[in-house]
Amino acid sequence: MPPIFDKPTTDKYDYVVIGGGSGGSATARRAALYGKKVAVVETDPYLGGTCVNVGCVPKKIMWHAADLQDRLNHHYPGYKFNGIANAQFDWATFKPQRDAYIHRLNGIYARNFEKEGVEFHHGTARLTSPTSVEVKRGDGSTYTLNGDRITICVGGRPNSPSEKQIPGASKGIDSDGFFGLNEQPKRVAVVGAGYIAVELAGVLNALGSETHLIIRGESVLRTFDPMIQETLTPWMEKTGIKIHKSSQVTSVEGEKGQTLTVKTNKGEQIDVDVVLWAIGRSANTEGLGLEELGIKLDKKGDIVVDEYQNTNVKNVYAIGDVAGKWLLTPVAIAAGRRLSNRLFGPPEYKDEKQSYENIPTVVFAHPPIGTVGLTEPQARQKHGDAVKIYTSSFKSLYFSMVEEEHKEPTVYKLIVVGPEERIVGIHMIGQGSDEAMQGFGVAVKMGACKKDLDDTVAIHPTSAEELVTLR
Ligand code: FAD
Ligand code: NDP
Repeated sequence: MPPIFDKPTTDKYDYVVIGGGSGGSATARRAALYGKKVAVVETDPYLGGTCVNVGCVPKKIMWHAADLQDRLNHHYPGYKFNGIANAQFDWATFKPQRDAYIHRLNGIYARNFEKEGVEFHHGTARLTSPTSVEVKRGDGSTYTLNGDRITICVGGRPNSPSEKQIPGASKGIDSDGFFGLNEQPKRVAVVGAGYIAVELAGVLNALGSETHLIIRGESVLRTFDPMIQETLTPWMEKTGIKIHKSSQVTSVEGEKGQTLTVKTNKGEQIDVDVVLWAIGRSANTEGLGLEELGIKLDKKGDIVVDEYQNTNVKNVYAIGDVAGKWLLTPVAIAAGRRLSNRLFGPPEYKDEKQSYENIPTVVFAHPPIGTVGLTEPQARQKHGDAVKIYTSSFKSLYFSMVEEEHKEPTVYKLIVVGPEERIVGIHMIGQGSDEAMQGFGVAVKMGACKKDLDDTVAIHPTSAEELVTLR
């Protein structure tokens, strides 16, 4: 087993990192690569943070399970794989297998630290000065790590309404609780319309739970391009998710573990086994000693940083979800590595910083969504009449053999600007959009124009080829 440290091994580290998640691990390992003495303090006994333990990884595994269930139920019959349709997913035996995989990843994180000389200190950290961090261990004892530089990468946690806001709210679970479910709920109400609500409602519905989605507005993913909202919302309904629009939960009644009744402002009463809050996340900034040091937070409670991830206190930095911009694992990792390049790397890295422009992102909905750059309303606001839109809407070849009612939509939108038709946004929904977006993300980052897509020979027969043949 890789060692877990319970006291300092030096009077002064080059770098102390608070949080052993995506960003913390990345920045710590990069600093160690430059020969620096590095300690990471992590409050969990396992490394990896949200993404590994209760985020991207177990979520994507569940998405794959749901995708397979969809194929079994709705696609295999069309391809004449007879006799295996409607095979039922066994949540209770799958969950421990999924957990075991996550534990393996936790071990890999710890072994990477050991190999690269990063110390893993298990405890809860608090800044006591701009150059010292107190580590509180499980038994209440404390010790101090001194560091020339300190980076805060403590991530965030799911929001839930208080009992005062919504009586009975505490009977619900959040996304962390979702990954703790040992049994598949037969009936579930998911509250929210963002990434997590869409992804988890999609998984539960595909796996056969009666799924209600309670949203404040008229569509899901309201910050995404209207095309995405207008395609996904009705498709989710068509696949069986009961979307309660313009609805707010007013109370949750009943006993946790038995039937819960969700009441809404529209007078509805929805009986379910599980209520799942997916209404956004907040940074883990409490109890870190930030106020005492005068480290600035914004109104939402995120740490304010400049473009170099500097907080307002010298030699204290923040990266990842806690800095509130683009709450995505690769963003935390990239920012962490660049920060260490700048702080500890060779002189050519002295101005390294993470760009927050044109970040590609995927929502693992059914079907998946890939998007990069500006939405159409954002593009029109920024570039006015210079904006031109190309779209393509079709059913992919895969679905040619699938019953009409199960043929998933594919819609692409390309947003270009000016006579040179520079691409400022690409929005894709449809099977394969998750994988295709990575390459198109590179093109947009490089400043591609529509002509560059036109000049690229299509790969046939694929769905993504539609993006290089748009008229
Ligand atoms: P985290 O990974 O959260 O790490 C923070 C660490 O700090 C934690 O391990 C925490 O225990 C520790 N910590 C907190 N306070 C202290 C303290 N006082 N002392 C010591 N340690 C402390 N992103 C994607 O890119 N793709 C996805 O598909 C995706 N899916 C997601 C699905 C879900 C359900 C959720 C919730 C998130 C998902 N995300 C996804 C977002 C992604 O998980 C986060 O953006 C990413 O984990 C942020 O990394 P971080 O290093 O900032 O924080
Ligand atoms: P999001 O910011 O994506 O969505 C929050 C949702 O909560 C919105 O739809 C909002 O509704 C709704 N909401 C907020 N307050 C309330 C309320 N009081 N009552 C009802 N609904 C409310 O947050 P998530 O929690 O879904 O995810 C957090 C972040 O994690 C994401 O932004 C993303 O960066 C990351 N993530 C990334 C994933 C990926 O890369 N695939 C997957 C999962 C998470 P409204 O639309 O009405 O404003």
